[in-house]
Amino acid sequence: MKNRIKEFRARFDLTQFALSQLVNVSRQTILAIEKGRYNPSIELAFKLSRVFNCRIEDIFFFEDESKQSISDLRKIDCCPICGNKHMKNANFCMICGTKIRL
Ligand SMILES: [Zn+2]
Repeated sequence: MKNRIKEFRARFDLTQFALSQLVNVSRQTILAIEKGRYNPSIELAFKLSRVFNCRIEDIFFFEDESKQSISDLRKIDCCPICGNKHMKNANFCMICGTKIRL
């Protein structure tokens, strides 16, 4: 789980300690969340969104790793069949017609 706590804190001019006081946790907890080492409980996530006056999903977001790998696949730059080297962002090979499965 990734988050924008640090960014929001800067926008609201809050230190880690000040924020921790507002949501009743330790400064270390805020630090760990910001570093992505700790996923907050739903309750804490709610409290944080309330402090920043926004929705939970504005602060926390899940990076979809399967999407990541699809975009990596799209970076294939040569055809596995004929070796055509002009495959960037293409779904099929212009030379041999091989379709690249996404
Ligand atoms: Zn090809």
